Amino acid sequence: MYTERMHEPFFHLRELPGLHWPRAPSGPVAQSWAAYRELDRLQWLSAGEIAAHQLRQLQALLLHCWRNVPYYQPILKAAGYPDRPLASLDDLRRLPFLTRQLYQTHFAELRARTMPAGIVEVGSTHTSGTNGVPIKVLKTNWDCLWWNAFYLRDLEWSGLDPRGRLAAIRLVAMRPEDEPQALAGLEFPGWSELCYDLLESGPAFAMDIRQAPRRQLGWLRQIAPDYLLSQPSMLEHLAGLILDDGYGLPGLKVIQAIGEPLTDDARARIEAAFHAPVKNLYSTNETGYIASTCPAGHGLHVHAENILAEVLDEHDRPCEPGETGRLVYTALHSFLVPLIRYDVLDDVTLGSGPCPCGRGLPLWSKVDGRRHTLFHLPAGGRKSSMGATLGLRKVGGVHQFQIVQRAIDHIVLRVIPNRDWSEHHAAAMRQVMHRELPVPVRVDIERHETLPKPRSGKLRVVVVEMDQPAPCPS
Ligand SMILES: [Zn+2]
Repeated sequence: MYTERMHEPFFHLRELPGLHWPRAPSGPVAQSWAAYRELDRLQWLSAGEIAAHQLRQLQALLLHCWRNVPYYQPILKAAGYPDRPLASLDDLRRLPFLTRQLYQTHFAELRARTMPAGIVEVGSTHTSGTNGVPIKVLKTNWDCLWWNAFYLRDLEWSGLDPRGRLAAIRLVAMRPEDEPQALAGLEFPGWSELCYDLLESGPAFAMDIRQAPRRQLGWLRQIAPDYLLSQPSMLEHLAGLILDDGYGLPGLKVIQAIGEPLTDDARARIEAAFHAPVKNLYSTNETGYIASTCPAGHGLHVHAENILAEVLDEHDRPCEPGETGRLVYTALHSFLVPLIRYDVLDDVTLGSGPCPCGRGLPLWSKVDGRRHTLFHLPAGGRKSSMGATLGLRKVGGVHQFQIVQRAIDHIVLRVIPNRDWSEHHAAAMRQVMHRELPVPVRVDIERHETLPKPRSGKLRVVVVEMDQPAPCPS
């Protein structure tokens, strides 16, 4: 049921010269605004209505795959396509999973030969590779449109008013030459490109996550943000420093936790130190927005207009409400490189029953995904391992890698070389580690056939052995 809301609109449109009333977006941003407004309406549909729309969108995606995507043609044929088209969302289980390894190996065949009218490729990016298998991601104009629309929905749900001051501590410098500026902190007049053209927006500030946590805190106190965005591991570390100092960030209204799972413990510690609520955003580079905190605080709502989520137990059967399982999703607008039953290597816990907030979107109580470990530095210092992970990924020459910090001055890099591997790659990897760790450090490179995985089956790309519990004295 669609409930008309009577409150003031959350966003304030930027004023255009000569156009005071009624104000309406024009030009390219008008489409993003219209898409956001449509999402605003769809969230109030019932769960059944949402599932029916998902099925129709899924049928369109599969028909496209059948006609245009070489990788999926034999898979769909084996599943009885086109004689037995999908009659329900449960039918999707006839199709196999798409793992990151399959995606990497079959990238050329996964790419659609022809695209539906109006969808065009506009660029490419990479996933961060923090799970050891970085993958290339191609973006279309549709991806950008829906990215913008979900960005606006997430801001509204999280209560992040773009007229305020936003501080982000995240990976900012993608190239070594940009690091000095990114470590010092950057200032921008607006929150995003979309805000520049569409919304009234306050300033945004960004600092690279590899800066020393104490320096990060000093910078935050100087800029006095209304909103803070970072990864839970970093926020938890900053929370510890604030509790030590006895004073925090007065005026902070909301914290947004991104890029890593947020445990209940971490949320409690962060909220106690900062005196601000923590909102969780779960997104991936492959697909964009997946789930965001329910505005009424009942867990996370899946952005079901973007993805069809399946949460499966160890026998690949759907989990019951309240159970934790492995997330496998289908990206409903992924027409260029379709992601069908994509195994993202994260676990989620299903919520119970319909959400009291009235939204029909699926409800999760939490996401248990990956965490970016902090390296130990001398004198008790810590540093995010994210830069090292990304740096090694750029070097290439390997199928997978794992960073093990044995001691403050000793790193072991375990690699599964690919056919391009050479001593040049080994030297470049050592260089990355020497750059990322500001102390003389011994870097050993070990070549492996496979890498050890814990029982969860998820490879931990960064292992800090100094964090492991000491063996019991015998
Ligand atoms: Zn809700």
